[in-house]
Amino acid sequence: MRTDMVPSGHGATITVFCRGYPGPLKASASTVAYVITEPCIGTKDAACVEVCPVDCIHTDDNAPQYYINPDECIDCGACEPVCPVSAIFPEDAVPEEWNHFVESNSGFYKN
Ligand code: SF4
Ligand code: SF4
Repeated sequence: MRTDMVPSGHGATITVFCRGYPGPLKASASTVAYVITEPCIGTKDAACVEVCPVDCIHTDDNAPQYYINPDECIDCGACEPVCPVSAIFPEDAVPEEWNHFVESNSGFYKN
């Protein structure tokens, strides 16, 4: 399978070419796909940043953790297994006690 990524404004479009399918499949993401939660606080080692294909994980010196930009995340899942403290979840699988991190991830990008 081959993938091509084309930046488009605030988000990104990923074009996927599948064997046995005559043309590319296109998908755009505009909502939070993956979310970084509490265990990142105090770790913040940027392992996820290294693997993100669309460079949508950021922080700053004053922030306690990294955050995923919900307008740019393409839901690829590459970041989840590399996190040493299991801080990253798909939005629909965030543990209930950490649900507020959905808002804090998107909120980081509204400042
Ligand atoms: S799911 Fe993929 S695109 Fe989204 S933050 Fe993780 S590595 Fe980046
Ligand atoms: S890999 Fe995990 S702990 Fe490291 S910066 Fe990313 S979310 Fe935080």
